[in-house]
Amino acid sequence: MDQPELDKLTWVNSSKTQAKRIQLPDRDRVDWDSLDYWGWRDPKAPQRGYLIVPADDGWIGIALTTTSGGGKKPRAGMCSLCLTPHPMSSIGLFAAPRAGAAGRNGNTVGRYICADLQCSLYIRGILKPEGMSALKETLSPQEKAARLELNLHDFVHQVIDG
Ligand SMILES: [Zn+2]
Repeated sequence: MDQPELDKLTWVNSSKTQAKRIQLPDRDRVDWDSLDYWGWRDPKAPQRGYLIVPADDGWIGIALTTTSGGGKKPRAGMCSLCLTPHPMSSIGLFAAPRAGAAGRNGNTVGRYICADLQCSLYIRGILKPEGMSALKETLSPQEKAARLELNLHDFVHQVIDG
């Protein structure tokens, strides 16, 4: 993806006040060529995460929250965006408030996503899922990136349009 230009970045499910408070990581240290979306967890509030996804005329930012720990969990699971298998400890159940009134009324879209929001690096083999034997997938990184892009698009669509 291209490095987001901040004046073309729209946070679709945050108020203006919330959006102003979002702290972007250092953009100079990001390898943009390896990313399909830019995702990070807030180091000061680890239950918060952010995704920036390229769109037709700029970039779309989505704020997420996650809870970790507790509850009955299966031993392993899969990211709903990049389909990388992980132990459950490395997958987060993220909730994105829906855009607009629906979100203000508490409606969210929930997805299991790589807990560190680094899907792009897993599908390219730059990061390896912890404790999982390598999956014999026949798709190339390009094909996985195309699949990730489709799933991202679907997710963004759900957040915006419900
Ligand atoms: Zn993922």
